[in-house]
Amino acid sequence: MIVRHLYVHVPFCHRICPYCAFYKHQPGKTSMKVLVDALLADLAAKSQRFEIQPETIYFGGGTPTLLNHSALSHLLEGLCEQLDLSHLAEWSTEANPMTFDQKKAELLHSHGINRVSLGVQSWQPNLLKTLGRDHSPEQATMSYHILREAGFPIVNLDLMFSLPGQSLKAWEEDLHRTLKLHPQHISAYNLTYEEDTPFFNQLGRGNFQEDVDDNADHFYLADRLLTEAGFTHYEISNYAQPGCESHHNQAYWEGKNYLGLGPSAVSTVGTQRWQNVPDTVRYAAEGAVTVNEETLSEADLHNERVALMLRTSRGIQLASLADTARKRAQEFESEGVLEFVDDHCRLTAEHRAMVDPVAAELFI
Ligand code: SF4
Repeated sequence: MIVRHLYVHVPFCHRICPYCAFYKHQPGKTSMKVLVDALLADLAAKSQRFEIQPETIYFGGGTPTLLNHSALSHLLEGLCEQLDLSHLAEWSTEANPMTFDQKKAELLHSHGINRVSLGVQSWQPNLLKTLGRDHSPEQATMSYHILREAGFPIVNLDLMFSLPGQSLKAWEEDLHRTLKLHPQHISAYNLTYEEDTPFFNQLGRGNFQEDVDDNADHFYLADRLLTEAGFTHYEISNYAQPGCESHHNQAYWEGKNYLGLGPSAVSTVGTQRWQNVPDTVRYAAEGAVTVNEETLSEADLHNERVALMLRTSRGIQLASLADTARKRAQEFESEGVLEFVDDHCRLTAEHRAMVDPVAAELFI
């Protein structure tokens, strides 16, 4: 079986953000070299089972750019050695401000990384403090310029909205400041309160509030300002200049097979989904021990694809829907919730914030 999408999880973070539910930790006792050796061993083991010819590779985390120069170099060299990269179209990495300098940026660029996603989150010092981020707006700007100077063709800036204490005006300022930098891609995520995070506990204690109307106001403000600036709103949280959409994320949304390397990384091939053990020490010592292995039913896979594709501007192919769901889609169309374009149905611009309840009604 050929697998064309590869995810690499680097779990290290300099500081832990209180809203974050990803598997991550400070480097601690595991050396960076040991982690990279384990990642390359994981790839070698998976290459025995699957033919891996990546069209996309994505370094996520955690903070991949927290790896020091020699560990990063070892990882890049190892991947280039082990993989057939002749089909590779996109190689992305996540990055946090102040975790890389010009030399590290050049190292990434020279090995073929062509897309960097920089975690800015906000340009407001008070909100960065609330989010527990360890960089200032000025440091984020400096890091952005380093990426530009290194020559990456696509730089994404990650932003968050509906933050505790964030006014609509502050969000508008963040959007304008982002646009002034002329990135090729902007991700704008509504803060979600994930279980087992300090933010979730604060919400439970009543220190933070969630307001659906406020979320929608922030969402539609971003939609208006960014599309007016020439960005395509191609997925609920993602905006791109023409031709700069993320291929890796599109592969997830379309239900393509992918393999994950690293502690906690998930893989899905056909109807099989499994996770690497979410424990860096164990992963480094024992290899990619599998946890949470499951066989997905056709209905699970179908519903997942419906939920994800409805988030995109392309929408869902009508022919792929079950009869009852197709009828429901027609009702949604007459109510102005969905529109039919070619042989697909998608949310109308005014109803994009309603994606989850609409998708649930189109499931098998
Ligand atoms: S830097 Fe990113 S991965 Fe690390 S704790 Fe913060 S949000 Fe999570």
